[in-house]
Amino acid sequence: MVGFCLVRKNVESRLLSTNYGAISVSTVDNIEKKPIFHFLPGSKVYSVGSFGCNLRCIYCQNYPLIEGEFVDAPRRVLSPQELVSEAISRGADGIAWTFNEPVVWSEYVVDTSRLARHEGLYCMLNTNGYIADLARGELLGAVDAIKVDVKGFTDQFYEKVCGGALAPVLETCKAASWNGVHVEISYPVIRGMNDSQDEIGHFCEWVRLNLGPDTPLHFIMVHGFHRLSGHPETGLEDLEKIRLLGIRCGLNFVYLGGVPRQAQNTYCPDCGELLISRRGDEGERVYFRDQQVSRFCPSHSDVKIMLSGRSCPRCGRETAIKIHPCQKPL
Ligand code: SF4
Repeated sequence: MVGFCLVRKNVESRLLSTNYGAISVSTVDNIEKKPIFHFLPGSKVYSVGSFGCNLRCIYCQNYPLIEGEFVDAPRRVLSPQELVSEAISRGADGIAWTFNEPVVWSEYVVDTSRLARHEGLYCMLNTNGYIADLARGELLGAVDAIKVDVKGFTDQFYEKVCGGALAPVLETCKAASWNGVHVEISYPVIRGMNDSQDEIGHFCEWVRLNLGPDTPLHFIMVHGFHRLSGHPETGLEDLEKIRLLGIRCGLNFVYLGGVPRQAQNTYCPDCGELLISRRGDEGERVYFRDQQVSRFCPSHSDVKIMLSGRSCPRCGRETAIKIHPCQKPL
C-alpha cells in the first residue's frame, strides 16, 4: 500500500521509500528561475526533481510528476555521487531540489546535498514547507538556501486548495531563518481565492515580523491550469497593487513572478539605486517525457550586479544579498 505522497510504501510493516535516487527531470537554470534573487545571483544551478508530493494543489503545474501515471514509470536512478558528478560536469555552481516536493525523497536529498557541499557546490530547496519537525531539521541542516511557497494565509485555503495546513509551513520559514539558511518566500496569487487585501496584508505583516523586512518576497501569477483550468488570472495591474501593498507593509524587496518582465530588478530601499538588474524571458522549455513542467516560471539572463560588496554603491545601505566571492560587481 502506498501513502498519499505515492512514493512511500508499506512493505510487510516497513515504510520504504520508492524513489531514492529516481530522477524525473534535471536541467541547468539560473538560480533566479526558482525564484531566488538574493543568493548568488546569476549562478548556475542544476535543478533536479523526482516524483511525488505531500500536497495536491489544484493548479499544480507539475502534476504529471506527482499524480500522473508516470509516478510508477521506469526512471533514471543515480547514486548521490553520480548526481554530484553530473552537476559538476554540466557546469553548475549548485543543486536545486525542485519540480516535485523535496521532502518526499528527503533521504536522497540530504545524502546528496552533504556530498555536493563537500565538493564545493551549494544546495537549495524549492519547497512547499509542509514538513514535519524531524525531517525539517535534517533538511535545513543540509542546505544553504530555501524558497518556501506559502500558498495562502488561512487554514481554510490550505485545506480546500492544497490539502494541507498553514502552521507547519510557517514553522519551516521561521526555522530556516533562525538556523541561518538563506530564505526567500513566494506567494502564488489566485484571483478571488487568496488575494484579498486583508489576507495579503496579514501575510506581509507576518513575514516582516518573523523573517525580517529584508526577506525577498515574490508574488507569483497563477495561471488557470490543471484543476484550475478556466479560472481567470490575476491581471498585472492587480498584481502590481499587491506588490505595493507588500512594500507599504514594510517589506523592502517585493518582486513579481510568473510574468517575465515586471518587477524583476533589485533597488536600494533607501535611495532607489539599481543594485541588480535581471532580464526575464520565457526560457527553455523543460519536459518530462512529452509533458511540459514548470511551464509558467520565467528564466533570467543578463544578471548584472552593481553592489559594492553587499552594500548600495550610492548610499552605502547594507543588504543581506550573498554574492559569490568570484563575482565581481560592475
Ligand atoms: S504545486 Fe508544488 S506543493 Fe502543490 S501539488 Fe504541485 S508540487 Fe506539490
